[in-house]
Amino acid sequence: MRRKLVAGNWKMNGSRASLVELDDIAAAAVRLPQVDVGIALPATLIALAAERVPALPIGAEDVHTNDQGAHTGEISASMMRDAGARFTIVGHSERRADQHEHDLQVKQKAEAAHRQGLGVILCVGETLAERDAGRAEQVVTGQVAESLPDGAASDWLSIAYEPVWAIGTGRTPTTANVAAMHGAVRAELRRKIGADAEQMRVLYGGSVTAANAAELLSAGDVDGALVGGASLTAEKFIPIVEAGAAIDRAISG
Ligand code: PEP
Repeated sequence: MRRKLVAGNWKMNGSRASLVELDDIAAAAVRLPQVDVGIALPATLIALAAERVPALPIGAEDVHTNDQGAHTGEISASMMRDAGARFTIVGHSERRADQHEHDLQVKQKAEAAHRQGLGVILCVGETLAERDAGRAEQVVTGQVAESLPDGAASDWLSIAYEPVWAIGTGRTPTTANVAAMHGAVRAELRRKIGADAEQMRVLYGGSVTAANAAELLSAGDVDGALVGGASLTAEKFIPIVEAGAAIDRAISG
């Protein structure tokens, strides 16, 4: 059985004062060991957070494709690791849109992160125009095929299916749509990496809240959640972790 993973993504939010939220999140993660929990933070907060809550895996939101060199303003996976990050997000749709990141770059970023021993959450997802045109599955499985890193394996890589139109909008797909897409992603993973696809976690992301977490996390083939807005406070994030733990308890009996 795949353990659920609930990961937060603070995006370009938060300050040193906000790190107080991590205290209760770390305590909840210890209290609910059935679920893996992590929080991806802006680079400026990673070292402080890793020192403050050593038991809680802290992640980066992006890494450079190169390990070092003349890339002003960029941060490499080895630097994130040195700061205390244990994992990183790559290919978030906001970076694909704002920074024009393409699948090959996302693949290289995932490989760079793995070289430095970081876990990776690789994001894929269709735009509303692509869904309306009936191309959602084709787009998403295409992103998986093209951005999957060489050597992809379930012990360090998870995929996050995040429909672009659901991120930060309060809109979510139906659970049937989520299950269908996760099934398609897993089928693509099977094609690319074989049997280990059964162990690889496929997370859902896009307007997950305390109110809809239980439903979304119970959808077929959903192995956790990537949470943006609702990860900014312990009050909103912990109920999502609790929902993941409750589902695990229901399955394990
Ligand atoms: C995200 O940033 O990956 C995300 C899913 O954001 P939100 O939960 O705010 O929609």
